[in-house]
Amino acid sequence: MPSYKAPVKDMMFLLNDVLQIGNYSNLPGYADATPDLIAAILEEAAKFAERELQPLNLSGDQEGCTRAENGDVTTPKGFKEAYAKYVEGGWAGLTADPEFGGQGLPHVLGICLEEMMVGANHSFAMYPGLSNGAMAAIRIDGTQEQKETYLPKMVEGLWTGTMNLTEPHCGTDLGMLRTKAEPQADGTYKITGTKIFISAGEHDMSENIIHLVLARLPDAPKGTKGISLFIVPKFLVKEDGSLGERNGVICGSLEHKMGIHANSTCVMNYDEATGYLIGEPNKGLRSMFIMMNAARLGVGVEGLGHAEVAYQNAVAYAKDRLQGRSLKGPQFPDKPADPIIVHADVRRNLMNARSFAEAARGIAIWAALLVDQSHNAPTEEERDEAEDLVGLLTPIIKGVFTDRGFESSVACQQVFGGHGYVAEWGMEQFVRDARISQIYEGANGIQALDLVGRKLPAKGGKAIQMLFKLIGEEIASNKAAGGLDDIIEPMEKALASWQRATLWLMQNAMANPDNAGAASTPYMHLAGHVILGYMWLKMARVSKTALEDGTDDPTFHENKLVTARYYIKRRMTETRALLAEIESGSEELMALAAEAF
Ligand SMILES: Cc1cc2nc3c(=O)[nH]c(=O)nc-3n(C[C@H](O)[C@H](O)[C@H](O)COP(=O)(O)OP(=O)(O)OC[C@H]3O[C@@H](n4cnc5c(N)ncnc54)[C@H](O)[C@@H]3O)c2cc1C
Repeated sequence: MPSYKAPVKDMMFLLNDVLQIGNYSNLPGYADATPDLIAAILEEAAKFAERELQPLNLSGDQEGCTRAENGDVTTPKGFKEAYAKYVEGGWAGLTADPEFGGQGLPHVLGICLEEMMVGANHSFAMYPGLSNGAMAAIRIDGTQEQKETYLPKMVEGLWTGTMNLTEPHCGTDLGMLRTKAEPQADGTYKITGTKIFISAGEHDMSENIIHLVLARLPDAPKGTKGISLFIVPKFLVKEDGSLGERNGVICGSLEHKMGIHANSTCVMNYDEATGYLIGEPNKGLRSMFIMMNAARLGVGVEGLGHAEVAYQNAVAYAKDRLQGRSLKGPQFPDKPADPIIVHADVRRNLMNARSFAEAARGIAIWAALLVDQSHNAPTEEERDEAEDLVGLLTPIIKGVFTDRGFESSVACQQVFGGHGYVAEWGMEQFVRDARISQIYEGANGIQALDLVGRKLPAKGGKAIQMLFKLIGEEIASNKAAGGLDDIIEPMEKALASWQRATLWLMQNAMANPDNAGAASTPYMHLAGHVILGYMWLKMARVSKTALEDGTDDPTFHENKLVTARYYIKRRMTETRALLAEIESGSEELMALAAEAF
């Protein structure tokens, strides 16, 4: 049976020592987040994830969701009860605005909770996960009345939210969507159309489901400039806030799919359902991006959660499984064979997953801090800078973390040999579950295009210049302090490769846009390596200082330094190949005629 232990100690190290969130007491909620409170919250969250969610992961996968004739969906045994505990524990409102009943704690804690929930049970984590995006859109673009009607119940967790974008003929290209919104005399709209692949579209865990639906007004311009966003509740809400009639929306069927079996993926049929416009007509794309940016960071964290849980289980197996002898001769001569953890190639799989997950956690928490700064930093300049930086990091986090999350899950499955392929050990479920994160919320190829096509050139390249400067400063201060020379040089080279790739794009993308398309995914991964290396350098500096200062936990910090060296000296060698791939251009990639394939 697979197991999961939430990485609380690592989270505390990142929050308190590396990112030093204590320095941000000028942001709302941060002054309250003392190290003691952080520890208490993370430990409670860990208990919830380990004791309530993880035990349902395998059974949920085996049982799946079921749909009744009338469209109602039942989640697997135990899910409804676990969700009730999630609500009871106040987890839904952890970081939500106190104006609507939230606890207003920093997002850095919310992101840690998200990682734990995904690590324990990806399918479960998606039910509240989708609500976060829906709440963000209502909070930012909703009217005061809409906020007061929906947010308090959603913040409490009694109602959940969904995002309804995809239709059978349009996924990436939302400009083609056909769902109609007919204005009514009373100011509401009648929504009619079919949405597919809607996560948590129907289930039995909450009293109401608040669908956020993209649709087109009768006179809307063609393409993405004619999309509007609507709130369509499953049950209409009466003036006094109580639930009224059932709205004209129903789950038409459940998708049969590769993984996340315990999360309902629904075809949603809207038949003149009552909807309420959110934001301005034809400006739905803007509101949609609010939902998507919140959701994309969350999906990136899924990659991290998968890598962590797969790694933990693979380590336990590698210490236990006896096969062969170490190349250096028997390490455990009293046993019939050595445990497979002695073999370098087994360790390669483990170290790849570990060195990714520990740095990715730091980047995810940093991104959450930037989100808080982008909303609440004292000056407009600071808010803008944080927004630009997190905008640039978002496609990298979504695309790179989920690619690596899947790669790590496969690597850890490999550690189990044939036992990883059979269901009993749970590893094949991790691989199946991890795969979706690379696809939904904008497939990873689209993230890479967003990075090179929109985020890099935005504001004349302001964000990328800021990031290069930050990384350059980290390298310089480590150089001045001395002691980490062996990782500084490869870091400098990798940063130079990223800068060279950026210059190559500037010089070659305008002349031939296929050069940008061909370079986009390797560019995103090159950027991902350097950013993860940057986080390793920060962690290495803190651990080195802790050891010099005589820390009472030397093993933790020595292990950090070993893993930092592994990532920067070994894993980041890939940046050279990625740069060469980018600079090879697009000619051969685009040369074959479509019929030659
Ligand atoms: C389990 C699951 C849950 C989901 N949950 C939700 C949800 O809750 N709400 C929701 O609205 N949707 C949801 N989706 C839909 C998901 O977001 C889409 O599947 C995804 O955005 C891709 O759209 P598509 O499947 O139509 O693929 P397509 O858009 O047809 O793309 C196919 C391939 O072509 C590539 N491609 C497309 N256009 C371009 C381009 N211009 N340039 C380069 N490459 C391109 C893509 O990267 C992809 O690899 C879910 C999907 C699944 C499977």
